[in-house]
Amino acid sequence: MTKIFNSIVDLEIELKEVRGNCEIIAFVPTMGALHQGHLQLVKEAQKIADKVVMSIFVNPTQFNDKNDLDKYPKTLDADIKLVQTVGLDYLYVPDETEIYPPEKIVELELNLLHYDQVMEGAFRPGHFKGVCQVVKRLLDLVDPHILVMGQKDFQQYSIIQFMIDQLLLPIRLHVVNTKRDSRGLALSSRNMRLSESGRIKAATIFRTMKTIKSKIKLEGISFLESYGFNRLKRAGFEPEYVSIVDGSDLKNITSIHGTKYAVICVAAWLEKVRLIDNMVLFDER
Ligand code: AMP
Repeated sequence: MTKIFNSIVDLEIELKEVRGNCEIIAFVPTMGALHQGHLQLVKEAQKIADKVVMSIFVNPTQFNDKNDLDKYPKTLDADIKLVQTVGLDYLYVPDETEIYPPEKIVELELNLLHYDQVMEGAFRPGHFKGVCQVVKRLLDLVDPHILVMGQKDFQQYSIIQFMIDQLLLPIRLHVVNTKRDSRGLALSSRNMRLSESGRIKAATIFRTMKTIKSKIKLEGISFLESYGFNRLKRAGFEPEYVSIVDGSDLKNITSIHGTKYAVICVAAWLEKVRLIDNMVLFDER
């Protein structure tokens, strides 16, 4: 039976005992509207930790678009039922005043360099500052040994790893593969806002990335990026970017020579829903 907490004081009483038993704690931060992708993170966390804590908090500081924040789905009752099915230990659902106490300044001084200037950072100014702020705050509160995040948000976990390194945080980041539907569409809370035909069409992103992966050693980078962008456009998407980057530093690459690890990242709108996805093209590190 999952134990649910709204206050860190009560969660901490539980975790104190867990720590006392020298058990490993893994932490899965989410914004709720849970799906099988989130549950996959819990299942993977259970393999490497003794106890798993998930948080649900829709963080206002990472939304650069107020409309997007307002429309973010909230399904707490269904979320609670879902986490029970995988035997989650602790669900932490703080309110905004616990994360951002009005009397305290929860600011994070961290220069994200070029990491938040490209891709998501370029199209959603301030987004990653908000993500780092909330993740750091949650890590301070929950104090886990392992942080578990999804490959689905490649730039996000890359930046969190950068933050962990910069701040010398004593925590290990564990990344879990993207969970997809049978057509290849990456599961996302935002998919709920797509129509049935939209969900079918949305899998074009996956097919496009797969085609590019099959051609990465044969064609030029900018040709493949344009190919991806135009294919999505023709299919009825409004693509924001199709970028092939060096996965180790998120810098754009112009050729595969000299790169050991290449990742394609895509953001595109469909039916007024913003979808992001990525695929490792090769990893020869
Ligand atoms: P979110 O609730 O969208 O902020 O996501 C919470 C965590 O779940 C993040 O670490 C995401 O990368 C991860 N996640 C979201 N969708 C998926 C998916 N389809 N497969 C694996 N992990 C995911």
